Amino acid sequence: MKTAEIKRRFLAHFEANGHSVVPSAPLPAIDDPNLLFINAGMVQFVPYFLGQRTPPFERATSVQKCIRTPDIDEVGKTSRHGTFFQMNGNFSFGDYFKEGAITLAWDLATKPVSAGGFGLDGDKIWATAYLDDDEAIEIWHKVVGLPMERIVRRGKKDNYWHMGIPGPAGPCSELYLDRGPAYGPDGGPDVDEDRFLEFWNLVFMQYEITDVRSKEDFQIVSPLPQKNIDTGMGLERVASLLQGVDNLYEIDEVRPILDTAAELTGKRYGAHSGQAAGQSHPDDVRLRVIADHVRTALMLIGDGVTPSNEGRGYVLRRIMRRAIRSMRLLGWQEPALPLLLPVARDCMAPSYPELATDFERISQYAYAEEDAFLSTLRAGTTILDTAISSAKDAGRASLSGDQAFQLHDTYGFPIDLTLEIAAEQGLQVDQEGFRRLMADQRARAKADAHARKTGHADLSAYRGALDDGGPVQFTGYEEVTREARVRSLLSAGGTPLQAAGEGEQIELVLDVTPFYAEGGGQQPDYGLITVGDGQVEVYDVQQPIPGLIVHKARVVRGEVRSGETGYAEIDVRRRKAISRSHTATHLVHQTMRNFLGETATQAGSLNAPGRLRFDFNTPGAVSASVLHDVEQQVNEVLLGDLEVHAFITSQAEARRLGAMALFGEKYGDEVRVVEVGDYARELCGGTHVARSGQLGLVKILSESSIGSGVRRVEALVGIDAFDYLAREHLLVSRLAELYRVPNDQVAERVEQTVTQLRDAEKELEKLRAQLVLGGAAALASSARDVGGIAYVGTEAPEGAGGNDVRTLAQEIRGKIDAARPAVVAVSARAGGKASLVVAVNAAARGRGVSASDLVKAALSGRGGGSPDLAQGGGLPASEAPALLVAVEKSLSSV
Ligand code: ATP
Ligand code: MG
Repeated sequence: MKTAEIKRRFLAHFEANGHSVVPSAPLPAIDDPNLLFINAGMVQFVPYFLGQRTPPFERATSVQKCIRTPDIDEVGKTSRHGTFFQMNGNFSFGDYFKEGAITLAWDLATKPVSAGGFGLDGDKIWATAYLDDDEAIEIWHKVVGLPMERIVRRGKKDNYWHMGIPGPAGPCSELYLDRGPAYGPDGGPDVDEDRFLEFWNLVFMQYEITDVRSKEDFQIVSPLPQKNIDTGMGLERVASLLQGVDNLYEIDEVRPILDTAAELTGKRYGAHSGQAAGQSHPDDVRLRVIADHVRTALMLIGDGVTPSNEGRGYVLRRIMRRAIRSMRLLGWQEPALPLLLPVARDCMAPSYPELATDFERISQYAYAEEDAFLSTLRAGTTILDTAISSAKDAGRASLSGDQAFQLHDTYGFPIDLTLEIAAEQGLQVDQEGFRRLMADQRARAKADAHARKTGHADLSAYRGALDDGGPVQFTGYEEVTREARVRSLLSAGGTPLQAAGEGEQIELVLDVTPFYAEGGGQQPDYGLITVGDGQVEVYDVQQPIPGLIVHKARVVRGEVRSGETGYAEIDVRRRKAISRSHTATHLVHQTMRNFLGETATQAGSLNAPGRLRFDFNTPGAVSASVLHDVEQQVNEVLLGDLEVHAFITSQAEARRLGAMALFGEKYGDEVRVVEVGDYARELCGGTHVARSGQLGLVKILSESSIGSGVRRVEALVGIDAFDYLAREHLLVSRLAELYRVPNDQVAERVEQTVTQLRDAEKELEKLRAQLVLGGAAALASSARDVGGIAYVGTEAPEGAGGNDVRTLAQEIRGKIDAARPAVVAVSARAGGKASLVVAVNAAARGRGVSASDLVKAALSGRGGGSPDLAQGGGLPASEAPALLVAVEKSLSSV
């Protein structure tokens, strides 16, 4: 029975029994700050269960899309856990209770297929119940007729449900199907959860609990006035039962993805079957991971999640990377998603048609993410190769933990990949050192998170500081120094202080300040604050709550005291460099719109000293020529030396003037407009230069994608732009010197050199092939008689490629008298691996000798071909001689 049909029957059964059919909520759990993704059917009904809202129905049923991130690591190893799965549920809000839930589930599970049920054999169903839930046990036994031997009492860990918080709770009762002795030992769910597969869990919400300390430690307060039912039936698990397959990766909605991955990588799924799920061959586990994760990625992006470095986006990113990595480990190096994702779509679209209509968008995100990850892998591989060759040159046998950590930390290069590539080159990796550095980093991250958390907790301290004196006035548009009073003094952790001494980290609130707090993409000001005999160095300025400007600083001299008046001065050089970047950002923004149209609106920006980053919306890449034109026009505006002018006006007036306002930003009625001559006009709270000429020079460095439809340009401004160009010029001059040509001919010469090098490599290749084949005649004449067959077994010269080895084997065979039965075996080593080619002539084939049998025997199945020519490989290089011995041995027993 198809999964879509199981889903349909489930809903039909409960609808016929008075339940309202409720659609699945989207996967992201937006209403619950503690949950990334919906993980059960009941989640969208929580407000009803908690009595916060009155349900519009007494009975409901749904098929809920679920993701359980803790189950990710189980995927592929057990047969019953998917990352994404669908939970079919029926719910009663104060209506039917235990008897209703049990009999409704039993009826659907055991009703014959012809009558609309699932047709499961009732004699194979087991039920569990909570230790003292005699009521449930009696229903199972007396009403349903289940024999007592198949009713199991279990404790809180398995059979008690609550939400981890005070509120509703209650015992559960689960349905298991005995899949038979092939899956494990007898004895019920307590003995083996693979043989006895849980497919349906019925939760009886009947108590209110409090003092929840853990899953098993809480206090029951009283019975609930209104008892509820919440059930969850794993759609995929039931599909695996009804489709007679081993596990949920083999059902109709998943298997085609797995098959496509197997086909691409040339793996035979289940080639090593007969083993329990927990001991599956790693290749099979990888194929299951790929199938599960590709499907999950499709569902997540379909529900609006996009890959990123935090929260839900990060889960998606990890899942996608794991799938891509697994394909690589199976030997597939190319982009895989363009081949796998459409298969997943075709599997899921019958139940979720929006996946087909929205596929364009979904696939754009997915493919872009894969491309980005593959280039990470490529960049990391290049760096790793360099590290490996310098380790080898230095005669070291291993890579340092530091190198592995750098690769991981800076390039996102997975450690298992580092291990694998190093091993191929015969090098070890200092894993101990790597783990230590990772642990250090985790400790730092934890400390950071703690700091952030305390910062968060101490928002109350900031609120207090704001209440004390109202919003802080920012005077930095007009002045860079000013007299100011220390309004509040806090420790770095947010505790109010009276005074702070030398070396202490503090946070200061002044009554007025020229310091700009980070905001609108503009980096904060640095500077000094002198109070009495004390002086502090400001290294960050933030606005933790609107209106409150907080200076983060270190006391560098003397002591500062709350309430005293002193002098604040910002680092003017830094401010000017930042202001130049900010004005340049406005110019780049306006100019992009001039060239790409009004839709090229800002999506984010960074204005740092001498450098800017500008993100904007536009469908595709911006061509090099447009980028060049943009850069030129921006620099022309600089030469025009336009006046930069800021003024406050009403929202309506700003709009009338055509000022660019950023979508999604909230402005009060009064807004600040910054205009550069008549060229650019934008709502902005940042600081700017006085005239565009002060920018000096703007140099665009790069343009890239940071998500579908969002592009990023990075540019240098002022002296930084000049320095950059000067360095580039020096580099070109140096190359010109090396090539002994004028600067403008360097590119041409490099191109020539590359072509020459390529030709030389080809020539070398040819010579090497000749060298390899040159030995064929001598080898042919060295044939020995093995059981009446002329046998040549030889190792190919070092450096021979796969083609060379094959040609050599055929060449030797051709040089042996065709009337004589002959077998030629050539082994080779390349990339740390041993391979084998066997060629058999017609006379030997006439005697029943097969090349493909010989290869399979020597390599225990890892290879194949035809009776006259076959090959295989994959063993460690040191096995090469043993392969020849193996061929000879099986030949002598033919
Ligand atoms: P298990 O002990 O097997 O992990 P569970 O106790 O976590 O299951 P419940 O929370 O009771 O499961 O979820 C209800 C039903 O959802 C289960 O009976 C099962 O059929 C299904 N289910 C749970 N987790 C998964 C998963 N990761 N993949 C597929 N189906 C699942
Ligand atoms: Mg579970």
